[in-house]
Amino acid sequence: MRDGSVVYLEGVSKIYPTAAGEIFAARDVTIDVQPGEFYSLLGSSGSGKTTTLRLIGGFEIPEYGRVWIGGEEVTEQPPYRRNVHTVFQSYALFPHLTVAENIAYPLRIAKTNRAEVAERVEESLRMFQLKGMGDRRPSQLSGGQQQRVALARALISRPKVLLLDEPLSALDAKIREEVRQELRDLQKQTNLTFIYVTHDQEEALALSDRIAVMHNGQVQQIDTPKQIYDRPTSLFVAQFIGKANFLKGTVLEANGETAAVEVSGTKIWAASPGRSPTIGDAVTLMIRPERLCLGETAKTAKADNQLSGKVASVTYVGQLVELKVETPIGLLTVTQLSSTADLSPEQSLSWNTNDCILLPG
Ligand code: ADP
Ligand code: MG
Repeated sequence: MRDGSVVYLEGVSKIYPTAAGEIFAARDVTIDVQPGEFYSLLGSSGSGKTTTLRLIGGFEIPEYGRVWIGGEEVTEQPPYRRNVHTVFQSYALFPHLTVAENIAYPLRIAKTNRAEVAERVEESLRMFQLKGMGDRRPSQLSGGQQQRVALARALISRPKVLLLDEPLSALDAKIREEVRQELRDLQKQTNLTFIYVTHDQEEALALSDRIAVMHNGQVQQIDTPKQIYDRPTSLFVAQFIGKANFLKGTVLEANGETAAVEVSGTKIWAASPGRSPTIGDAVTLMIRPERLCLGETAKTAKADNQLSGKVASVTYVGQLVELKVETPIGLLTVTQLSSTADLSPEQSLSWNTNDCILLPG
């Protein structure tokens, strides 16, 4: 166990036999989730998120590795012996029971006395803004309300950890954003630990304290949303999260975590967080479009990287304007706030070493 973790997976692998051979749905996954954390597993379809969640919930037993919950090893324990609760994508509400009966269900199973059940259900209806809806059937509620019932039911038995598998994916965009905020508020109020599965990077960035990015059953990077966005550690994560300019180059000089890289005959300064590159390495540089400065700002900034370029196209995207700028190192995408954008055809560009991330490959 890792001290203090509420959930700790240690080198966990889950293998499925298929006609084409064995597949590792999860491969050597190590994650530690701290009490009160909003922790997301983010990855595209088939990356192993649900498998990892099922390993935590006890619906799967791993072939390798160990699972700890609240400091206790539970690797081979069934779901009911783990102090976690899973909310599935489909909500899995009982259609023939009322909202109140649905919420009360886990307490009835636990044979909690009637008076306490009534009291806790009432409190729960209030907390989830479902007051007065206790006698309805799930089919008489909107999608967002059904989601709240599912959450209320999950939380009523006061689990240590709530596991949520793409809980908002059945909602349409507008409601999804509303319920997303509610979910975040609820987690902060209750101070429960949430482990949240999503393929939606925006959702993960907005909600999480930390994110584990998954690909092919493996964890690629674990970090805060800001670190994942600003300081990806692999080309995969950099390309998966947000938009960016990618430039191929070769390392000319290396000085700890700073390096000079040759890109199409131009020397560019870049940061290499956490590792020291080697001269001659073939690398990719990543620069986010909003980190490139244009015009007067670029000229007056004491930035390490300065170039000039010609604007090739301008696209308004609401409050942002996106420019494609032809430069000696290639076509760069730059975003600026529409309200203050400089659209002169000839441009100076600049950016800081720290906004130019060196990635292997
Ligand atoms: P995600 O939730 O990220 O979409 P999953 O964890 O569901 O991914 O699946 C990871 C991989 O494991 C996929 O390639 C999937 O097809 C495979 N997989 C999942 N469950 C099974 C199973 N019961 N039998 C065989 N393969 C499975
Ligand atoms: Mg899934």
